[in-house]
Amino acid sequence: MTFTPHGKSLIAGDWMASGTTFTSKPASGPAHDFSVGTVEMVNRACEAAEEAFWTYGYSSREERAKFLEAIADEIEARGADITEIGTQESGLPAGRLEGERGRTTGQLRMFADHIRKGDYLDRRHDVALPDRAPLPRPDLRMIERPIGPVAVFGASNFPLAFSTAGGDTAAALAAGCPVVCKGHDAHPGTAEIVAEAIHAAIKSCGMPAGVFSLVQGGSFDVGQALVKHPLIKAVGFTGSLRGGRALFDLCAQRDEPIPFFGELGSVNPMFVLPEAAKARGAEIGKGWAGSLTMGAGQFCTNPGIAVVEKGAAGDAFVAAAKAALAEVGPQVMLTDGIAAAYRKGQETFAGRNAVEPVLTTKSEGRTALPNLYETDADAYLQDHALGEEVFGPLGLVVRVAGIEEMRTLAKGFEGQLTATLQMDEGDTEAARSLMPILERKAGRVLANGFPTGVEVADAMVHGGPYPASTNFGATSVGTLAIRRFLRPVSYQNLPAALLPEDLA
Ligand code: NAP
Repeated sequence: MTFTPHGKSLIAGDWMASGTTFTSKPASGPAHDFSVGTVEMVNRACEAAEEAFWTYGYSSREERAKFLEAIADEIEARGADITEIGTQESGLPAGRLEGERGRTTGQLRMFADHIRKGDYLDRRHDVALPDRAPLPRPDLRMIERPIGPVAVFGASNFPLAFSTAGGDTAAALAAGCPVVCKGHDAHPGTAEIVAEAIHAAIKSCGMPAGVFSLVQGGSFDVGQALVKHPLIKAVGFTGSLRGGRALFDLCAQRDEPIPFFGELGSVNPMFVLPEAAKARGAEIGKGWAGSLTMGAGQFCTNPGIAVVEKGAAGDAFVAAAKAALAEVGPQVMLTDGIAAAYRKGQETFAGRNAVEPVLTTKSEGRTALPNLYETDADAYLQDHALGEEVFGPLGLVVRVAGIEEMRTLAKGFEGQLTATLQMDEGDTEAARSLMPILERKAGRVLANGFPTGVEVADAMVHGGPYPASTNFGATSVGTLAIRRFLRPVSYQNLPAALLPEDLA
């Protein structure tokens, strides 16, 4: 191994240690010691971020685009080391880490292109009408401005694409906002090497040191101090409903409340419509099992619930899903805690009234084996726990009597990141009757596919009504994600010399 972590946090250009350490728990390879992040580090990072904002927030789009591209280049230069430590810490296969690295550098370059085009600034101009009666109209110009320092919480399940230099960081830096990142304990070495890449890009591009800091985890104090810090103006977060809600509440309780963009849990219901079930129920069941077990089911878009009619076609769907799931061997999970939470979720289902086990397994240690359960619409609607996300390869089939019951069930779902329709041409009317409900429930509605594998694109929405996210007006994936870190400012009758460069 060529990269050995030194275990420090990057605070405004300096690598800092604290008096206490935690030891990483890799799925394979050597463990390493890391200095626990401290409130003192958070304070220094936030102060440096605020200081950096006075230059970085006023840098040109071209300067920021070049900086984002330099980060991507520096990540690529460390590619093999990132894959090695990333696979060790997360237990994810090398191919996944390589793909995720491509997605991460792709996101950085996408935001570079996006800000170069400048459409995101949403520039508006109402020309003055001095002769308008009864009152003249002033000259009004509007543009989106960066909000100031942003806190980012690295996600456990995407050590690269939703972490240190992931989508939240890329969107904030593109907007002109310095970032203070709270590293996730599940992959501190991966966070460190990516922070080294950002550090190198800061130096080569002549950016202010405070534009990026990484405070390693190891204590709840760090995350709490970060969201409460008065210089932080917004938070990007991916993780659990419980953790996200706690931090969201802290943001709301501040003297100056700030937006908390939390991407939390989702069970991503999939509706198998009758004609599709009849024509290809078994094929869909097999495909569903594949999506459900991809990455040990550790995706926020994991389609945990399938809704299908009672009867022979539905039976074929369930049988095919069961057979495909039974083929899947134990998969390593991201952390011991996540593996334990998966087993706890399994217990919730095992002990439920009106929930039939279809395939039950016993997994050990940090691994997970798939589980499949079945229930009906009445039982589902009466038991709130059945709609809670179980992070991992666990599926629940809800059998319904027909489309009307599918609609009733759909109305009972909480906010979701995605909702999927499996449909054939003969299902169009039924699908149309579901659409008004699904649009209200989910950030993304898709047909004849599976929701895992989120495209990073202009028209992507990765968000949704609570509890899928804490802010339904936003997405954490795609170019629209930059809007979270912008604020419209109107300039009335200002002389050209005072207007922002992008408006002049
Ligand atoms: P998590 O427990 O929500 O932790 C995410 C981050 O928030 C970590 O940095 C954690 O700090 C911090 N945090 C959580 N609660 C906090 C609190 N009360 N005060 C201050 N900081 C807090 O998520 P996780 O560790 O990644 O995974 C645990 C569970 O989250 C999984 O089993 C799964 O259910 C869910 N999850 C969901 C998604 C999704 O995309 N929907 C993604 C990942 C995980 P520490 O590191 O110090 O604990």
